[in-house]
Amino acid sequence: MTAEKTTAKKTTAEKTTAKKTTAKKTVTKKAAAKKTTGNQTAVKKTAAVKKATVAPKKASAAVKGAPAAKPVAAPPKGESQTVLVRRARRINRELAEVYPYAHPELDFENPFQLVVATVLSAQTTDLRVNQTTPALFAKYPTPEDLAAANPEEVEEILRPTGFFRAKTKSVTGLSKALVEQFGGEVPGRLEDLVKLPGVGRKTAFVVLGNAFGRPGITVDTHFQRLVRRWQWTAETDPDKIEAAVAALFPKSDWTDLSHHVIWHGRRICHARKPACGACPIAPLCPAYGEGETDPEKAKKLLKYEKGGFPGQRLNPPQAYLDAGGRAAPPLGAG
Ligand code: SF4
Repeated sequence: MTAEKTTAKKTTAEKTTAKKTTAKKTVTKKAAAKKTTGNQTAVKKTAAVKKATVAPKKASAAVKGAPAAKPVAAPPKGESQTVLVRRARRINRELAEVYPYAHPELDFENPFQLVVATVLSAQTTDLRVNQTTPALFAKYPTPEDLAAANPEEVEEILRPTGFFRAKTKSVTGLSKALVEQFGGEVPGRLEDLVKLPGVGRKTAFVVLGNAFGRPGITVDTHFQRLVRRWQWTAETDPDKIEAAVAALFPKSDWTDLSHHVIWHGRRICHARKPACGACPIAPLCPAYGEGETDPEKAKKLLKYEKGGFPGQRLNPPQAYLDAGGRAAPPLGAG
């Protein structure tokens, strides 16, 4: 009985202490809130910017198992365009640190191979396309060859990429158009590219950005999902998303930005289970918490290349090797 009474007393005391602590916190919060309310809009803007600067210095920190970075407290409702631009650019800078070797993950050696590979990449993985295209280009190395190909033979090669009949029509059709309208060369202008069968703006920008060095924003499924999560735009139409994001960055950033965002979507910020607890840009993300926030559990959600790590290709070309001949350093290595 005595023991029970003592325990009861203790519990009451603990509850009281907890209440006091909560009350203290509330008072402190209220006081802080009052201070904020008393200040001018300019101060609010400064505070918003400060919030957006608490990202871990090294992107790898979040993945190494360090405590998850503190997320922003609330979605940036009413965020001014200036603050949004700063936040968006900061996210891109952080992603550039995490994915310094971001590049198109489709293998290609010339604009023709890139446009064909990009068309084939619809509804399948780049890895699958990379496993399929060597046989295709070995048999049909030029637009002339593919234009004159027997569709059934092309279908057989493209079967592993899915939708192989439609894709065969697209790649043979675009090859014919290249031969008939552009002298067998891939045109370097958006308005010409989008006229090719199976080529929309997304494919056209991939080709322009990576085969012609012309800045372009690639609004694929990852890009759409991520920029909405980051509240860069509320648009859902790809063309409008492209225009909204284009307004946040200088043209020279567009191509690399597209790679960074797409790589992040493939490796960390997945559609169904984003790995928020292992995400290096969590402090800048209004959607933090949409996925797993526990660092250990989140680490298990990271998607690595087969036997590798984010940023590593299966066979990294020379350009992606470091000075010692090793592949790009892994996220969270060390
Ligand atoms: S993983 Fe989570 S925190 Fe990171 S960008 Fe995606 S939603 Fe935001």
